[in-house]
Amino acid sequence: MNENTSLSAKDEGRLDDFYRAMETESSRFVGYPSNSVFDYSDLYRFLRFPLNNIGDPFVESTFRVNSRSFEQDVLRFFAKMYRAPEDNYWGYVTSGGTEGNMYGLYLARELLPEGIVYYSEETHYSVSKVLRVLALRNIMIKTRANGEIDYEDLRETLRIHRDVPPIILANIGTTMKGAVDNVDTIHEILRDLALPSFYIHCDAALSGMILPFVTDPEPYDFAAGIDSIAVSGHKMIGSPMPCGVVLAKKKNVDRIARSVEYVGTLDTTISGSRNGLSPLFLWSAIRKLGPSGFREMVVRCLKMADYAIERFREEDIDAWRNNNSVTVVFPRPEPPVLKKWQIAASHDIAHMITMPHVTRELVDELVRDIVGTEP
Ligand SMILES: *Cc1c(COP(=O)(O)O)cnc(C)c1O
Repeated sequence: MNENTSLSAKDEGRLDDFYRAMETESSRFVGYPSNSVFDYSDLYRFLRFPLNNIGDPFVESTFRVNSRSFEQDVLRFFAKMYRAPEDNYWGYVTSGGTEGNMYGLYLARELLPEGIVYYSEETHYSVSKVLRVLALRNIMIKTRANGEIDYEDLRETLRIHRDVPPIILANIGTTMKGAVDNVDTIHEILRDLALPSFYIHCDAALSGMILPFVTDPEPYDFAAGIDSIAVSGHKMIGSPMPCGVVLAKKKNVDRIARSVEYVGTLDTTISGSRNGLSPLFLWSAIRKLGPSGFREMVVRCLKMADYAIERFREEDIDAWRNNNSVTVVFPRPEPPVLKKWQIAASHDIAHMITMPHVTRELVDELVRDIVGTEP
């Protein structure tokens, strides 16, 4: 190797410091929904290839250093889990939840160019960005106290705009409160108003990996009548790099596909070059854990959320969570606590998310810190 290709001692030192800082920060990571326990070391050898899944995952490309066959397995797993129409689904491994939401709303816009997007005020900020990028007409709907969309406000607003096809962005686990918009209730409203053409996209960033594994899931999947769904890969499953999955009905996608000669495949995805490593990580997690492993993981996280609520309440702190959510909501603590624990706050509330790496010891320490800093 050329001697110029090694780092100076100073640069090496900087990386060592960075490594230690990341070790510390990831050990107190309770405010964001990223699982930080995973071991993909058996896949490190693939870091030496310029893997790129450019274009459509189901159409072979002339760029053959790719992990398409693994990506297809990952998509098949999610399609089955979300009860997508067999042999009539399409999707890809995205760079994260935002790209999945952008794909879903892009598809909706191509199908219903006149459509108006309805989404609740507790929707993730990625959606308002996507709406701006796609220049989609949109109306924000009120939420109930638990973070769920306000169905009465939705009904009234839809009624006023009955002449325009609705595109509904349903939250399957809101960012701050983990609330799920009920897809059955949304369908009922659309039926009552006799709205024949509509599109439903689900933002299931976090709860898309919770609801398939609980005994009483809220309706959210293709069998419940949705058109597309986006889920994050780096949240519940865990991944060294952000990633996600988007799934849609193939018959809708076929109407907008374009062929591109340069890469010898279909240009159906939002991004051009796509990460070829994240499908490998997701595939390996799916093969190692499988539905039963994920179920155990989810049950453990829900139990930890209940433990946290119990501990907060013992200290007279009003903590709560939505059904099937690992997001524990409590009153906004003092700034040093937010900073130390990387907790996101919004107005007067904050939350902790009991992801797989959150232990009872961490919960206890957080509660102690909150009690200790109360004015
Ligand atoms: C995290 C999240 C997103 C965005 O996901 P990214 O991977 O950060 O792009 C979208 N919606 C919800 C509800 C989320 O929690």
